[in-house]
Amino acid sequence: MSARVLIVDDVPANVRLLQALLEAEYFEVFTAMNGSEALDAVQRVKPDIMLLDVMMPDMSGFEVCRRIKSNPHTRYLPIIMITALDQPEDRIKGFQAGADDYLVKPIDEAALLTRLRALVRFKFLLDELESSIGDELLLDTRLESEEERPARLALLLNREGRDQRLIDWLRGRHNVRLFEDPVMLLDQVRHGTVDMVMLELPLKGHDALRICSQIRSLENGRQLPVILLMEDGHQKELLHALEICASDYLLKPVSLEELEARIRIQLRRWRYIQRLRENVRQSVTYAMVDPLTGLYNRRYMNTHGRAMVEEAGQRGKALSVLVMDLDYFKKVNDTWGHDAGDEVLREVAARLKKQLRRLDVICRIGGEEFAVLLPGADVRMAQQVAERLRRAVAGQPVKITTDDGELDLHITISIGLASFEKKEDTLESLLKRADEALYTAKQQGRNRVVRQKAA
Ligand code: GH3
Ligand code: MG
Ligand code: MG
Repeated sequence: MSARVLIVDDVPANVRLLQALLEAEYFEVFTAMNGSEALDAVQRVKPDIMLLDVMMPDMSGFEVCRRIKSNPHTRYLPIIMITALDQPEDRIKGFQAGADDYLVKPIDEAALLTRLRALVRFKFLLDELESSIGDELLLDTRLESEEERPARLALLLNREGRDQRLIDWLRGRHNVRLFEDPVMLLDQVRHGTVDMVMLELPLKGHDALRICSQIRSLENGRQLPVILLMEDGHQKELLHALEICASDYLLKPVSLEELEARIRIQLRRWRYIQRLRENVRQSVTYAMVDPLTGLYNRRYMNTHGRAMVEEAGQRGKALSVLVMDLDYFKKVNDTWGHDAGDEVLREVAARLKKQLRRLDVICRIGGEEFAVLLPGADVRMAQQVAERLRRAVAGQPVKITTDDGELDLHITISIGLASFEKKEDTLESLLKRADEALYTAKQQGRNRVVRQKAA
């Protein structure tokens, strides 16, 4: 995993030590000696993660962290604070500044590498998602994810010695569900009705780490925050847990201030990933769908259509293509206006779509032109479908609303048909023949279906 790590510390010996450790693990290392250099380096080298000392002469690490985390452009840069300050108040200050983790010197190398790798994985996931949506949408997404609202917390705790204070505190802020049975908890995760899981380790009668890994194996659980509540002194188990599945942990007795800060960090990440996913899904859809009619667009036809034609060729299956165009559509626009024209296009698109099977693909490939792919349809079948489509449009008037009220327009379409006939046929050759057939249909008087055979 070659990630860019920025080490910030005012003591050169500390920097060298960390640098040697990380370079031996093949990280790409950058360094800064004080707070302002660090802020500068964040912009310049675009690190994937930052290791940040707290006590520095010009600006404290807390302040550096706060500044990075309050800038929407850099807020999801993971930061591990590394410090000699070992008082609980210091840790809390670190988390309140937005640090993703807080490690105390002397550094436990295994712990550092485990945390580093986990956070880098998260950063790489963000990079991947972020790269598929535009910059503007990205900033919106980041700002939208800021809101802090109650989350759905699922708790699996030991019956004995339950920390009622903790549960009451959580209940005051979130929607809390206590589970006894891991199967039921996993079920909720599977259904996507959980925003965060808290597990006690060890968990009497169960293997908490197994439950944690099972959460990770579910589609909705892959990035879900899972926080472990554990006793001090289980360092080995803890590292193992962080390596395989846990997002974070807290030592018992739990400090509520620390808990609050850690929950906030985990939820912010989780919500950001959710929003990114949703936006990626939407931009993929928008790129393939025509906003006016809701049909697929030409780009979709070119990618999926090509694959469909190839498959038909390889399997020796029938496939036909229709290309259709509205007759005298210019007149509709000229007489009733462009909005009326749009209404007609929407209605025609809906009528066409209604006549087709689920596996047929209909696209709006031009202003008033549509193409339909009919997998499995030979010439005869395709001719029947085309005739049905023609009648669906011409058979009853299209209603439009004008300033003078509703109006019935008689709309017709012409259709060109081509079927897969020879091995060399491609999407392009089929569309070309169907286009030629459409031209003939127009010439012969419109409102008709014409087929073009291969030469
Ligand atoms: P033909 O029977 O030969 O097809 O005649 P036509 O008038 O339909 O042919 P032509 O291709 O010359 O005109 C198509 C018109 O479709 C021109 C353009 O203004 C209109 N058009 C293209 N896209 C849209 C659209 O999205 N909305 C509206 N309202 N009109 C569109
Ligand atoms: Mg036309
Ligand atoms: Mg046209």
